[in-house]
Amino acid sequence: MKVLLVEDDPQILEVVSVCFKLRWPDVKLVFSASGEKGIELVETESPDIIILDIGLPDMSGFEVLEQIRFFSDVPVIILTVRGEEMDKVRGLELGADDYVTKPFNHMELLARVKAVMNRTRMSEFKGGESRFTSGRLVIDFAARTVASNDEVVKLTPIEYKILHLMVRNAGRVVTQRRLMSEVWGESYLENTDRLRTYIRRLRKKLKDNPPQMLLTEHGLGYKFVSPV
Ligand code: CA
Repeated sequence: MKVLLVEDDPQILEVVSVCFKLRWPDVKLVFSASGEKGIELVETESPDIIILDIGLPDMSGFEVLEQIRFFSDVPVIILTVRGEEMDKVRGLELGADDYVTKPFNHMELLARVKAVMNRTRMSEFKGGESRFTSGRLVIDFAARTVASNDEVVKLTPIEYKILHLMVRNAGRVVTQRRLMSEVWGESYLENTDRLRTYIRRLRKKLKDNPPQMLLTEHGLGYKFVSPV
């Protein structure tokens, strides 16, 4: 497995590479301190996953991500600075798979990389699959029916749309903006109260209280996780 780290801070680079060497020796780490070279390495090295810093000397990590997404679906974890909530939102909207906040614990970073890789491997379910099962929840996409604990859950079309989008993106944060634009269209972008109300109703119908499947990611959006 190959990891590309795009990061200009030599200290972080050192810590991350030592950490992989010790804990995950199969990983080949390639790195770049600039955005431009990072993009080039995505093409020439075909990494399995990218860890991407937002603050780079030649261009922002957002631009790097945007350019990568023109030609590659490779999973990307962005490194953001604590407190910069908007950076996370922006990164996720541009197609990042996850984020880690600096200063980070290297074990946390490793865990995130593993989680994203597992998710990517599992998500062969994306297009064709007509049925989704997760714990007590069963969704039949063809029939548009939902069952929980073998009982039919009656959802409104909007509730179904939200659940469908969440499940299709299981394991990753779906931003509020994305939910609102895909469910209601652009005109409802500002109306987060409306979204919250629907999420609340959906949780109630799915008996997901306190939430264990449909999690709130504060200031960002929501994440569907499979119940353990
Ligand atoms: Ca930096």
